[in-house]
Order: sequence, then structure tokens, then C-alpha cells
Amino acid sequence: MVLSEFEIIRRYFTRAAPGAILGIGDDAALIRPSAGSELVVSTDMLVSGTHFFPGVDPRKLGYKSLAVNLSDMAAMGASPRWAMLALALPASMLQADEKWLEQFAAGFFELADAYEVNLIGGDTTRGPLAVCVTIIGEIAAGAALRRSGAWPGDDIWISGQLGGAALALAHQLGQITLQPDELAACLPALETPVARVGLGQHLPGLANSAIDISDGLLADLGHILDCSKVAGVVRMAEISCPACLRKYLPQPFAVTCLLAGGDDYELCFTAPRARRQEIETLSRIQQASVTRIGEITEGTGLAVLDAAGRAMPLDIQGYDHFRT
Ligand code: ADP
Ligand code: MG
Repeated sequence: MVLSEFEIIRRYFTRAAPGAILGIGDDAALIRPSAGSELVVSTDMLVSGTHFFPGVDPRKLGYKSLAVNLSDMAAMGASPRWAMLALALPASMLQADEKWLEQFAAGFFELADAYEVNLIGGDTTRGPLAVCVTIIGEIAAGAALRRSGAWPGDDIWISGQLGGAALALAHQLGQITLQPDELAACLPALETPVARVGLGQHLPGLANSAIDISDGLLADLGHILDCSKVAGVVRMAEISCPACLRKYLPQPFAVTCLLAGGDDYELCFTAPRARRQEIETLSRIQQASVTRIGEITEGTGLAVLDAAGRAMPLDIQGYDHFRT
């Protein structure tokens, strides 16, 4: 038996939404932001064959489809509250005995429950597998962290480690071969990334600008520099990365994973030098490691210095879906 759209929604996605006035089941949901706050809204689409392998573990896909959206909230300094889920599903996944949807929903709600995000609606249609999540969060009016706020003299910080997701992907694509323990160290970054929500929520008032690293450090820090009309210097040796990647530096493929590898969903933010201590304290409280990797300067462009302090040639770029 093939499940109807109505049956899919009822079975797998209809949950109580205590944080909404009206959740799933009407023509639209009703939400009310807390007094004095602004709504923060973002959408991310994951398409089979482009963003994930067709045979991906559905539970991990459900988890990641929300995680990448939580990461956008973190990058704005916002608190995630509500989500909408639009699904295009091939007929094979609509069979009543198919566990795919059950697993997908389990992964999605595992993360939604952890952050008290209410699923308040969406759309379900037949088609090539694609998952589109819209997230809605809130933040005190005027406090959101933008890409345009970096200032000369700011430190450049990143959370966590970079390059692990790209390294795991290179392994899955057969471009390199990782040892089982190395793969185990990198795969979570690719499959079940941790959005830095707690860290991000406490950055407004401390940081001047922020972005989440979805397309690689060069591309995403580049957006901060462009939007803020400033330049940046980054020391490659100071960028935190998994040991299994570090040992290949400075081989070109490892440098590419580190600087241009997408999908890490760590935060890159800039903050005045005077706030270093507070940021270190915040990092300890939130149990999210942070590393200072460089500085914002006057001018334009990004310089990445190698271990000897020489500017590296940067002909690598972040992942751009429309580049051929
Ligand atoms: P309409 O025809 O008015 O668009 P639908 O039948 O598409 O209504 O949706 C019925 C209800 O189910 C709506 O509240 C909608 O937001 C919700 N919904 C549909 N698909 C999903 C989904 N994949 N996840 C969560 N809610 C969904
Ligand atoms: Mg609809």
C-alpha cells in the first residue's frame, strides 16, 4: 500500500507544538514572537545526489537537515523556535512498509526535541528526493549578528575543527583512503554536524560579525570581509583540524579540505581583542572549543599565511553550486 500525503503527515510529522499558537493541520501555522524580539528566518535545501548520497541513512539525513538550519540560527546569534519541513519523496519511500520515513522523522525530531524546536508545518509531494527545512528563531530586537559588522583590529575566531567533513567526503568519493579510526573521527562532522547554537546565542554583544562555515573558511570568511569592507589575515597553522587531516598538511588536498572544505557548520566570528577573555570563558561554559586564527585589518582581501609566515597562493575557493 502506498501512503497518502495526508497519512504521511499524520503518521510521521504531526506532533504537539506547545510553542506555537497553531501547529500542523490548518492552512498555515500561527506563531507569536516573545515581546521585544525579532523573528529570524532561514531556509536550506538538501537535494539527493547534490548534498547527500541517494542511499544515505535516513535517520542521519533527518538530523542533518535540521542541523544545517540550526547552524544558520547560531550564526545570527538567534534562538531557534519553529521549523517547517518540505519533502519531495520518490514513490518507493511512500510504501507503508518502508521504514525510510520513520527513520527520517526519528533523526529530525531527535534534534528538534533537543533544542525545543516545534515542527509547525511543511509540504509533502512526490518527486526526486529533496528535503527543505525552514527555520524560524528569535532574538532581542537589534541584536542579531551580521556578516557586515567586522572591524579592523578584530580577532578572527572559529569554533571546533575545520576540514573533517571534507576529508570524510573525499574518502566516501574514493579520492583518498582513511583508516577506520580516522574515518570514525571525521564522519560525524559530515553526517551529523553539531550546530553551535549555545555559543552563537551568547555572541551578540561580544562579537562584531559572524557566519557559519558551510562552504569552506575562505568562502565564508570572504563573505564577512566583503560585507564589512575590510581585509583579513589568517595563520593556517592555527586553524584547528582533526589529527588525521593535520598530518597531511601542507599537501594541497589537505589544504583544500581545511580552507575550502564545506559542510563543517562551525562558526567563524570576529570580536575586539578586548573581549578575548570573555570569549574563552563563554567557550568553556558552552563546551564549544574556539580558536583565534587571525585578525581583521583595513583594506580588502584575505591573506592566509603558511607556517613560515609567507602568504599562500589561494587558487582554491569554497564550494559554489553554480560553478562549473
Ligand atoms: P495545503 O493543501 O493547505 O497546503 P497540506 O495538505 O499540504 O495543506 O498540509 C496539511 C498540513 O500539514 C499543513 O499544516 C502543513 O503545514 C502540514 N504539512 C504538510 N507536509 C508536512 C511535512 N512534511 N512536515 C510537517 N508538516 C507538514
Ligand atoms: Mg501543501
